[in-house]
Amino acid sequence: MKIKSIRQVKNLKGKRVLVRVDFNVSIGKNMKVGSDEDYRLVRSLPTIKYLIRKGAKVILMAHLGRPDGKEVDKLRLDPVAIRLSQLLGKCVYKSDKIFTNFVNELKNGDVLLLENIRFDAREEKGGKAFARELAKMADIYVNDAFAVSHRAHASVATIQEYLPSYAGLLMEDEIKNLSKAIENPKKPLTVIIGGAKISTKIKVIERFLAVANNVLLGGALANTVLNVMGVSVGKSLVEPKMYPVIKKIKLTDNKLRVPVDGLMAKSFTAKKGRMDALADVKKDELILDIGPDTINLYEKIIKSSKMIVWNGPMGLIETPFFAQGTEALVKLLAQSKAYTVDGGGESVQVIRSLGLEDKFNFISTGGGAMLEFLEGKKLPGLKKIVS
Ligand code: ADP
Ligand code: MG
Repeated sequence: MKIKSIRQVKNLKGKRVLVRVDFNVSIGKNMKVGSDEDYRLVRSLPTIKYLIRKGAKVILMAHLGRPDGKEVDKLRLDPVAIRLSQLLGKCVYKSDKIFTNFVNELKNGDVLLLENIRFDAREEKGGKAFARELAKMADIYVNDAFAVSHRAHASVATIQEYLPSYAGLLMEDEIKNLSKAIENPKKPLTVIIGGAKISTKIKVIERFLAVANNVLLGGALANTVLNVMGVSVGKSLVEPKMYPVIKKIKLTDNKLRVPVDGLMAKSFTAKKGRMDALADVKKDELILDIGPDTINLYEKIIKSSKMIVWNGPMGLIETPFFAQGTEALVKLLAQSKAYTVDGGGESVQVIRSLGLEDKFNFISTGGGAMLEFLEGKKLPGLKKIVS
């Protein structure tokens, strides 16, 4: 994959550079960016600092939450601008509108954050006129928002038709690291997929069954597969509409591993559960985590792998008792000598809660975007910057 990087642009001095970033953090009741959400801003710092150093006029575009095309006061980006100023050690200007003439008053090295781009309904529709208007504010466009690059939104994709477009440094990192899993991966390659719904991850599972050495499943999505395999899963979450699709997979393939034991309880709100083999789930029980035999089985495979891609928790991580399986997995991956890549909102949350981010070779900022990239899809937000 060839990446058009912002580093290839020779003279950025005085240029107005419009950068799409992913600042979709949660804002606390105190109207501050949650301290455990900082990392999303931190990941964008290299690109912003690079542009400042080169004397560019930096104009940032970002979205926050789902305002559905309307101005929503709670979703204004002011708290983000404040936190970003602190992280950069430099004043970040914030405009109350998406469009502002202030872009023409910026001095070299200044940073301006535009208002929540999703306040305009044309953003999510990928509107051409809207993208053209945005493009008028700048000389160069940079996409550094990998996490939204699977969306054909105006500030992510359409705008690339109207400005010379480049990848930011985070974007470059994302593409380089995730490409390692699909272009000449180190073998044995193991892919671990967990999480809520098999429907959102079936394509990745299918793709890696063709190219990886091992595909290990966990979480609620494994229940649907287990059920198709003939294991009764009690009241566990399953997606019956996916049965026909799963039946087409070679379920006896040695590469494909499913949990053999788990923690079960009678309701999602249970604080504790009982451990048993998955052959013995009772009718009124839910499978809420993987068990020690599964972890042992997966441990052996992890230890023999040279590259591991992981997405999605192994259990109901919101309840500490059912987060044990996922935590055990994170610890195994952290110790592993393999090249480890992880992504996905909830998976990353568990790594961070254990303070083990540094033990992974790469943590993607993308959830859905990472999965679609790994499926081999061409992401709309990479249209003009990757070939
Ligand atoms: P990620 O964001 O890491 O890609 P997903 O969004 O696909 O992960 O799934 C995360 C959710 O899956 C978590 O909220 C977790 O509680 C849920 N989950 C995982 N395993 C189970 C299970 N066995 N039963 C119910 N929910 C589960
Ligand atoms: Mg998620």
